[in-house]
Amino acid sequence: MIYYKNQVEIEKIRRSCLIVCEALAKVAEMLAPGVTGLDIDQAAEDLIRSSGAKPGFKGYRGFPATLCISRNECVVHGIPNNEPFVEGDIVSVDCGALLDGYYGDAAYTFAIGDVAEETLELLRVTKTSLYKAIDQAVEGKRLGDIGSAVQDLCEKKYSYSVVRELVGHGIGQNLHEGPEVPNYGKRGRGTKLTFGLVLAIEPMVNLGRKEVVQGQDGWTIRTKDFKPSAHYEHTVAIGLEKADILSDHSMLEECIKNNPHVQEISIKN
Ligand code: MG
Ligand code: MG
Repeated sequence: MIYYKNQVEIEKIRRSCLIVCEALAKVAEMLAPGVTGLDIDQAAEDLIRSSGAKPGFKGYRGFPATLCISRNECVVHGIPNNEPFVEGDIVSVDCGALLDGYYGDAAYTFAIGDVAEETLELLRVTKTSLYKAIDQAVEGKRLGDIGSAVQDLCEKKYSYSVVRELVGHGIGQNLHEGPEVPNYGKRGRGTKLTFGLVLAIEPMVNLGRKEVVQGQDGWTIRTKDFKPSAHYEHTVAIGLEKADILSDHSMLEECIKNNPHVQEISIKN
């Protein structure tokens, strides 16, 4: 089902998104070699609860944690564990929160220490593709314009692979609602974008081939070829002339600047 939101509802989603982004900023402050997924998961949960919100993922279809933490060849949906992060890891951290009946959702892939240049480039391009997709999130465009913006950059200009099995989604009173927001597609095709649609746009892009497999824990999705994968996400309201980005990576990016263990990921021109 697709539900169209009014401005009051959009503001509620924005508040949830800001709590999510404060939690991601806390993560950005903490990340370093030796820190574990369970450490950052606990800190994120504490921050969300102290803001009066609830973790959006914990208990969702039985997911056991506040954060999805997906390292290196893991694409998304990784379960936090006690394995310490090491120099050279990339770590996708995805977070949701529920406040006043509305969800927020955002994700960021962090580079810990000395990450291989080809992997850093994957992160830059994937992050750039998120903003190219958001540029399309305006009245009159179609879902295919969002997907093709990601695909054109990541697959045509760079020879990466866009994951097909996992997609972005509508968001509101449900964490996942219609429409699905694929990171591939044809320009000018698909559902028309109109004011009131709120979408979680989340490119998932692999350095190698597009195929993914599910891990034995029943949650983690990893690349079949074990090459790294990147993931960036914003929750966005369709705008009349410009998308309204309800989540905000600037807080976490500020924390990265002050954390010598985490590398900044720039946007490509
Ligand atoms: Mg997410
Ligand atoms: Mg999402």
